[in-house]
Amino acid sequence: MCGIAGIFNVSDSETLVAELLFSIQHRGQESCGLAARNERGNIFCYKGMGLVKNVLTEEILKKYSGNIAIGHVRYPTAGKSDETNSQPHVIELPEGPHLAICSNGDIINYYELRTWLENDYGFTFKSDNDGELIGRLIAFYLLHKKLSIEDSIIEAQKQLKGAFSSILIYRDKMFGFRDPHGYRPYVIGTLDDEADLNGEIPSEGIVLASESCAFGIVGARMIREMRPGEIIRLEKGKPMTTVAVNAGKTQHCVFELIYFSRPDTKVFGEKVYDVRKKIGAQLADYDKNMGFGDDTVVMAVPDSSNFVALGYAQSAKLSFDMGLLRNHYVGRTFTKPDQKQRDEGVRHKFNPLPDFFEGKKVVLVDDSIVRGTTLRKITRMLRNAGAKEIHIRIGSPKVIGSCYYGIDTPTRNELIAAVKSHDEICEYLGADSLKHIEIADFGKILHKFEDFCFACFNLEYQYKPEDYHQKVNRPDAK
Ligand code: SF4
Repeated sequence: MCGIAGIFNVSDSETLVAELLFSIQHRGQESCGLAARNERGNIFCYKGMGLVKNVLTEEILKKYSGNIAIGHVRYPTAGKSDETNSQPHVIELPEGPHLAICSNGDIINYYELRTWLENDYGFTFKSDNDGELIGRLIAFYLLHKKLSIEDSIIEAQKQLKGAFSSILIYRDKMFGFRDPHGYRPYVIGTLDDEADLNGEIPSEGIVLASESCAFGIVGARMIREMRPGEIIRLEKGKPMTTVAVNAGKTQHCVFELIYFSRPDTKVFGEKVYDVRKKIGAQLADYDKNMGFGDDTVVMAVPDSSNFVALGYAQSAKLSFDMGLLRNHYVGRTFTKPDQKQRDEGVRHKFNPLPDFFEGKKVVLVDDSIVRGTTLRKITRMLRNAGAKEIHIRIGSPKVIGSCYYGIDTPTRNELIAAVKSHDEICEYLGADSLKHIEIADFGKILHKFEDFCFACFNLEYQYKPEDYHQKVNRPDAK
């Protein structure tokens, strides 16, 4: 999971992009960066390990200013955890102008395309990052096939398998484009207060971002979501234009609604907080005969489960409380790159309220169980704090498969639901009962259930990496 942002043709675009990135910091905390193009046509790029506020400082932003800018926050899914894999990437073209690109997602046929570009056309890669691959593939069509930038993006989009929400700067234009399935979120807004959102919208002031929650901080209005497979062009003095739409079967990531996206985001035609509250209400519906009453408290593993727990409590008419305190100076444990860092994160992150749990039945709501290690530690913490019973309710179905579309879930044998039975998981967690929401019940929650990917819950993948390991998938092969 990563986040992207871009702004077209306004002064101080670099500062605005830094602010957008700050609002989507939850999508990746490992590294960040921006690329800005000034009126003279120079592209500057600055990247670093760490949080936006520490990397993209005022001093840096003064040095790297421009009227067109793109930026990225990274959480590593593929490729090493270091600065070379940070984004954006500037792809140097022999006679210029260079192009700059950032992308969120994962490319399943990465190695086939990279090997082909390296071996047959002498491309040199500086990173292991799929954003760079997308940029170099577009450069291939520009340089070797002599296509226009628009056609180069169209051809590259056809070759790439997997998930990508991308922004590209080329000359004085900016392009936004997305994979045909629309896996990762992608929204379009504008800074132009006068623009008629139902008519032609000037390119100047267009804001592209992973999530709509970013718009508030820069004063942008939401226009709409980028369509699956859409390519848009932003050009000085011209309206925002859709160049092409190469749509496939829509496969929005349902996990974005369950966990990743911020609750104040609207994405995939849904309000995130609303979906989470409905998930909570559905879980409460499963518990009608559990006999929960005045001695029961509903609480969340903060923060991503807060709205699910609230939805549960309101629907079940039980008291909702915040029994676990979260230290906000510790980041999301899931987005730490290794287990050791995640374990340290849990210990530093949560603390139970003193004298709160004594004699209480607790309905403990979490968004998902991946390995189960975090939840096991929390359950133990609550028992030690005096909880009489702990009933764990999970706002996602059982995670039984890895994600190949931009979320770093572990391999199958590390996923507790793939290797243990329901009762074994409940016992491992130390809970009195355990329930997950069923996939089918999302049919009652989502407006277009059929437009969502549930592959890590039902193993119905659109693409799997093993399908591409041996295949020669050359863009010029017939
Ligand atoms: S496999 Fe799971 S995490 Fe990955 S895109 Fe599909 S629903 Fe989202």
